[in-house]
Amino acid sequence: MTDIRDADHIERRTLLAAGAAGAALAALPALPALAQATTQATTPSPAGSVFGAETFTLANGMKGVVIPMSRAPVVAHMVWYRVGAADETTGQSGLAHFLEHLMFKGTTTLPAGQFSRRVAREGGRDNAFTGHDYTAYFQQVAADRLPLVMGMEADRMTNLLLDEKDIAPERLVVIEERRQVVDNNPRSRFRERLQNAFFVNHPYGRPIIGWESEIRAITRDNLLAFYRQHYRPSNAILVVQGAADTEAVRRMAEDTYGRVTGGPAPERARPQEPPPLGTRRVTVRDARVREPSLSRMYPAPSARADQGVADALDVAAHVLGSGPSSILWKALVDSGLAASTGAWYGGDTVDQTEFALSAAPRPGVAPERVEAALDETIAKAVQAEVAGEQVESAIRQLTAGAAFARDSLMGGARTIGAALTVGLPIESVEAWPTRIRTVTPERVTAALRAVLKEEGSITGWLLPAEGNRS
Ligand SMILES: [Zn+2]
Repeated sequence: MTDIRDADHIERRTLLAAGAAGAALAALPALPALAQATTQATTPSPAGSVFGAETFTLANGMKGVVIPMSRAPVVAHMVWYRVGAADETTGQSGLAHFLEHLMFKGTTTLPAGQFSRRVAREGGRDNAFTGHDYTAYFQQVAADRLPLVMGMEADRMTNLLLDEKDIAPERLVVIEERRQVVDNNPRSRFRERLQNAFFVNHPYGRPIIGWESEIRAITRDNLLAFYRQHYRPSNAILVVQGAADTEAVRRMAEDTYGRVTGGPAPERARPQEPPPLGTRRVTVRDARVREPSLSRMYPAPSARADQGVADALDVAAHVLGSGPSSILWKALVDSGLAASTGAWYGGDTVDQTEFALSAAPRPGVAPERVEAALDETIAKAVQAEVAGEQVESAIRQLTAGAAFARDSLMGGARTIGAALTVGLPIESVEAWPTRIRTVTPERVTAALRAVLKEEGSITGWLLPAEGNRS
């Protein structure tokens, strides 16, 4: 297929930023019910949950989540694998994403290129995306086509051919994608280098799409070994959202995925970050850039490591960097130094993550002045207590988004799928608004003090080419 997989290799940043823009749903981190016994009756959702998800586990270890939503006779069907770019062997960057592309090629029962065509012929649409922590495949179809797509997805979980004659041309597609998405985009290219410098040892510093030389070197054996190790029911999570009954989905899952065999889920043991030490800088000049932009990143715990701190950091990011009433905006934009500011935290990761700040100087304002003002603002924010009204307002805006999350066909499936694949419990999503409402100014202040430390931070500047400065 030559279709553009629009949702391809979504990075954690993109996913979370999208969530923060409309609803905070993507920032909702979401399983303990899932850890329960096998092939037993479904576990209903507790009252007051955001999505009302119900869960089950097949005898082969595959988890199932159903988010009933009967507004229209359609369903979103997703299969999430607990494997992503951070699970690749060093020197084989891009392998998870390359394999994602090849999953649309032939199996022992379906010829190459027929998967998406078949879905389209049935009136549906399909796509896939790869992150550092997960790879996911989805279709949106009429509810009565659910058994068909489940059968097709179960087929490519185990019967993929990985034919050399499909691998060679697809490699060129991936290299072209890298060119378009990263190399031809100064901002992406800069972010790739900044991320790479920020992580000292963890593979989160590796580009999801891979370094070009390594994409070129990946062999069929590499792909096949990765596929066999990670693509198995015990390492997959099924999420169905829409006009579907949980018991019916469980029976269909038994008939399709339930027939796939495979060993236990592989361990996710990645190289970890050493303790933070010193500060780093990355400066990239690019002739295609007109205005400079500043990024600052700090090491921060994931929700898996500390849900309470993660909740406080969700609120803290809002208080610091969301909109004209935020702390950074007031200090940098209202004062005429910056054109825009932002703050971002994404806690839905397997391992240690980052808390990030950004600012774009106004034309004519020296970058150094903006950086000094940012440092000063952070120092003040950390010394003072965060105001109660700022926290209340942030909580109101963040939780209002959760109300809209139910309206989107994919919203719940995406949020819960992402959370489960990183090892968070389903309650982490379902009870997110309830927990966020309990965050106090003291907790936000404490979280900011814990995270906004010089040690371990990195400062990145994307600048116009020398002599091209505004
Ligand atoms: Zn791609």
